[in-house]
Amino acid sequence: MNNTSDTESFTDCHKASIMQFDRAADLMSLDSELRQWLNTSFRELSVRIPVRMDDGNVRVFSGYRVQHNNVRGPHKGGLRYHPDVSLSDVRGLAAWMTWKCALLDLPLGGAKGGITCNPKDMSPGELERLTREYVHGTGDLIGPLKDIPAPDINTNARIMGWIMDEYSKRQGYSPGVVTGKPIELGGSSGREDATGRGVSMIVSRWAQKENKRLNQTSAVVQGFGNVGYHTALHLSRLGCRVVAVSDSVTGIINKNGVDIEAAGRHKKKKGSLSGFAGGESIPRDEVVTFQCDYLIPAALQNVVHGGNFQKIQARIIFEAANGPICPYTEPLLPGAGITVLPDILVNGGGVTVSYFEWVQNIQHFQWKGEVVQAELQTVMNRAFDKVMALAQERNISFRIAAYILAIEKVVQAGHLRGIYQSQY
Ligand code: NAD
Repeated sequence: MNNTSDTESFTDCHKASIMQFDRAADLMSLDSELRQWLNTSFRELSVRIPVRMDDGNVRVFSGYRVQHNNVRGPHKGGLRYHPDVSLSDVRGLAAWMTWKCALLDLPLGGAKGGITCNPKDMSPGELERLTREYVHGTGDLIGPLKDIPAPDINTNARIMGWIMDEYSKRQGYSPGVVTGKPIELGGSSGREDATGRGVSMIVSRWAQKENKRLNQTSAVVQGFGNVGYHTALHLSRLGCRVVAVSDSVTGIINKNGVDIEAAGRHKKKKGSLSGFAGGESIPRDEVVTFQCDYLIPAALQNVVHGGNFQKIQARIIFEAANGPICPYTEPLLPGAGITVLPDILVNGGGVTVSYFEWVQNIQHFQWKGEVVQAELQTVMNRAFDKVMALAQERNISFRIAAYILAIEKVVQAGHLRGIYQSQY
């Protein structure tokens, strides 16, 4: 599968994660036993979730939790509600969490969860029952020292609060079972915007490396949910001109820079960017090829593919979403003059502040916002600098450099714990 039309429809996160892993593992001459250990999930749960809907009928949803690797610490990863959620996607997203946590040097492993549903068609009551039943269905698999969910696509602080409540009812007060909670329930200052803030930190550091000031740069942000909105907001506050944004309904362009706070208010009120008067409306998928310095996909996977990469005008792609670039297309990007900063680095701010939240829950102590932000900056800078240095030293892509750094950490921990013995 490598021609244009095939890559346009490629969406499998598991296959993508394996292809990326293999590219790094080949360069590391990783032996086949290690590959097998690192390329397979530790545990996979598939669960049927019956929910009484508001009309009185019962609907049965499919839910998943995949734990990829916990050699460096408890499993950690988001929970996604979306009609396209599949076990295969969750498997790939779980593996990416292992590599992300290792690259950022957080003492956590990788996991991911998902429920195949369309939350836009569900009432708050239906979503609450779905969430509580999912917690019931995951049984003993989650827990503060086992596996800690967090928000992802279409899940938010409120849903995390229900998870904390449902788990605590069974196990006793356990704020550390989930992160991204409301502050009142033990959430951390700075968690809500952490992923977008982290993306803006990586973009700033890159601009510094290019000897540019952010107010000399322009960006396009695709996706206007938690990650996209906060990325666009922080970048615009830092002086970057965000010339286009989009959501699942429409794209908005404004060469002078979109007023992100106004766009955010509009989306909150109307439910989408449609009808926003602060720019010209264009078809949603066209923002990806709009003229800018930095393209920042912050929605779903497989946004850059064989069908559109040659039209992309940005020279740098920052992957704020997980897996936005088709793995078959990625090797063609350098030839098109496009550099990629990988998701496991760029969107690591979310899990980093989730880690801080978990630490605060264990300490039963609340950090000040300034402390959270300063610590986040330290973690993001450290990971960025390591990836840059290794990529330069070995003349490899930033993604492969990030994977090598992450895989080395996981393998070392495996050896030290005696879980896996092998020559490496
Ligand atoms: P979200 O549900 O808050 O927002 C998703 C946004 O994408 C929405 O605005 C939606 O309208 C938009 N969208 C959907 N389909 C689109 C399309 N075809 N074109 C343009 N926009 C589209 O989800 P989120 O939490 O912001 O997650 C976005 C991405 O970031 C996902 O890949 C997720 O895995 C990743 N991520 C999220 C976090 C986090 O902390 N939430 C952390 C790391 C990575």
